Amino acid sequence: MDKTRRGFLAGMAACAGGALSAGSANSTVAPRSKSVISNAANISRLRKGGSANSNDPWVEIDAQAFRNNVREVSRMAGGTPIMAPVKNNAYGLGDTVVGPLLASMPEVSRLACVRVSEGLALRAAGVRKPILNMSEVTEEEIEELVLNDIEITCWLDDAGERLDRVAKRLGKPIPVHFFIDTGLNREGMPYDRALPWMQDLARRPSVKVAGIYTMFIHDIEHDKVQLMRFNRLIAEARKEDIPLGLVHASPSYTTFYLPEARFDSVRSATALFGLYPDANAVSMADLKYVWRLRARIVRLEQLQRGETVGFGPKYTVEKPTTLALLPVGSTDGYPSSAVNNCKVMIGDHLYPVVGSMSSAHTIVDVSEKPDVSIGDVATLVDPDHKEIEPRAVAKQAGIGHYSLMSRLNALLPRKLV
Ligand SMILES: *Cc1c(COP(=O)(O)O)cnc(C)c1O
Repeated sequence: MDKTRRGFLAGMAACAGGALSAGSANSTVAPRSKSVISNAANISRLRKGGSANSNDPWVEIDAQAFRNNVREVSRMAGGTPIMAPVKNNAYGLGDTVVGPLLASMPEVSRLACVRVSEGLALRAAGVRKPILNMSEVTEEEIEELVLNDIEITCWLDDAGERLDRVAKRLGKPIPVHFFIDTGLNREGMPYDRALPWMQDLARRPSVKVAGIYTMFIHDIEHDKVQLMRFNRLIAEARKEDIPLGLVHASPSYTTFYLPEARFDSVRSATALFGLYPDANAVSMADLKYVWRLRARIVRLEQLQRGETVGFGPKYTVEKPTTLALLPVGSTDGYPSSAVNNCKVMIGDHLYPVVGSMSSAHTIVDVSEKPDVSIGDVATLVDPDHKEIEPRAVAKQAGIGHYSLMSRLNALLPRKLV
């Protein structure tokens, strides 16, 4: 088992440029050029944790589960290459760990992000595959992205003038994806005035057209209309000999439900992270949860009847009680509403979360089976146990599965397992 895992990680490290060390997210970052990568924020995401000599809580990233989900999404996409969005710190899981992991898989041809800092962090973490930044950015940021070999998106009317100025400074054309708004009405150049805008951009020596894309609203009838608009624009552009580069459109929902929207690459993310686009999709693919939340017991004490627990005091013990303290709390992303609602696994037993949650602490009543020790690993979220799998914990805490994952503190150490 260890051999297989090591082999996998070694292959991954080679693919990703060798920045991830086997068995640990604690990689040494080797930026290609100091002057190019100016962002140091990602270092904090690569903290040591989950090791025998640390009491920090940690998030485990399950490489095999990601491997499974990439295969499943690829199958749903009929083998179309995947552009994997790892925005919002890889949906909370840690872009500098998840990004290189996904980039190491052959079905994933590129990554996408929505912040300049994310793109730079991915490069610093060793990702060598193409990366697309999907937000509009300033001229200075365009320059920074291009210097780090990250493709840019534009949709504003004055994109041409700005690209001219940056290209002049850099002395080379800028790889650009046209983002077309076909009806989401969130971002993009509206489809009905996109053609002359694209024509103008494509004629400029400052622009190298790298792609064109749109985004659906996740409603099958509406998405079909959007697809028709997108197809019509593409046909018109081709008639005018406007180069288009990579054509892409499909998030997870349409990857499952609209095969006509696959084009050159699907842009599926949440399915890679184990979330189905809707309840019907559960029977269509076998997606796995990809993360765990763990911490070690740092205190074990017996309380006498009548003593109170935590701030407030909100909770009074009615009989002699043994409490275990876990150094993980609401600011780490474990919801405050877990108190009295969620359980934590220590050894093979589930114990209730009691008292009150604080920003960095969780209190667990271990009286029922008190044969636990300081240093024992407690698991707060774990796909392998139904009662504490991510969706179950989210439900017990009264929040969504997506929120539970995406609110994990970016500063928590990540451990690739
Ligand atoms: C987030 C995002 C995606 C991924 O969508 P999922 O529903 O998570 O698969 C794709 N494209 C764009 C433009 C996005 O912002």
